[in-house]
Amino acid sequence: MRYIEPHAHMVSRVTDDYQAMVVAGCAAVCEPAFWAGFDRSSPAGFYDYFCQLTEHEPRRAAKFGLPHYCWLCINPKESEDVSLASEVIAMIPKFLDRKNVLGIGEIGLNKNSRNELKVLEMHVDLAARHNQLILVHTPHLEDKLKGTRLILDVLKADSRIKPERCLIDHVEEHTVKLVLDGGFWGGMTLYPETKCTAARAVDMIEQYGGERLWMNSACDWGVSVPLAIPHAALELRKRGHSATAIDRLIYQNPKRFLSQCPNFKVLEAD
Ligand SMILES: [Zn+2]
Repeated sequence: MRYIEPHAHMVSRVTDDYQAMVVAGCAAVCEPAFWAGFDRSSPAGFYDYFCQLTEHEPRRAAKFGLPHYCWLCINPKESEDVSLASEVIAMIPKFLDRKNVLGIGEIGLNKNSRNELKVLEMHVDLAARHNQLILVHTPHLEDKLKGTRLILDVLKADSRIKPERCLIDHVEEHTVKLVLDGGFWGGMTLYPETKCTAARAVDMIEQYGGERLWMNSACDWGVSVPLAIPHAALELRKRGHSATAIDRLIYQNPKRFLSQCPNFKVLEAD
C-alpha cells in the first residue's frame, strides 16, 4: 500500500510517528500552518513557526526518507486580531519561494466572525496575487454548514480563484455536496472522536464518488491518529473496494490535486 498524508501537524508529533507512517506506505506528508494550542503573542512567533515548517521539519522528515511539504497562513483561530493578521500575512510572500511550500492554508473560519471573514479575504487575495493553491479549514459542529457557505461565497466572489485549485477540508455529510457541486475538492478528516470516522468517510465516497475527495488524519497535539489513512484503507477493503480504487483515493487523488503546485513530488516514481 502507498498513500499520501495531505494534512498532518508533524511539529506536534514524535519520530515514532514518522517511522510508523513510512512503514505503512506514506509517500509524502503535507503540513498546513495551524494553531499551536495557544495564541502566539507576536508576528515573530509566526516567523519562527514558518521557519520551522520550511526548514526544520522537512529535515526531520528526511531522516525517515519522507518528503515534507507545508502550507502557510495565520490560522482562523488567531484571526480575531486583524492587525496581527495583517502583519503575519505581509510576511508570507518571502517564504513562498521555499521549495516545500504548497500554498496558502489552512485558512478559513472558526467562529464565523466578521474579523475572521476579513482575514479570510486577505488570505484569498494573497493566494490570488501569488498564484497559490488554497487549503481551507471549515468550522466545527453547529458552525460548519454556515461557515462552509460563507467560505465558498468568498472564494466564488473572487474571479481570480479557480475552484479546482482549492481544497475544502473537514467536510461532513451535510457539507460535502455543497463543496463538490461548486467544483472544489473536499477533504475528509478521520478523527477517533469528532469530525469523521473511517466508516462515515467510506459512506460519503460510496455516495458521491471519489473523484475530488481525499482523506487525512489531521494529526496534531490533540487526540488524533497519524495512521488514520491506512486504517481507512482497511475499511475500504473490508467493504469490497478494489486495490486500484483504494490507491486512487489515498494516493492518486492527493497527488493529482497537489501536483498543481510544481514543488510537489512524491517518494516513489510511478
Ligand atoms: Zn489542521
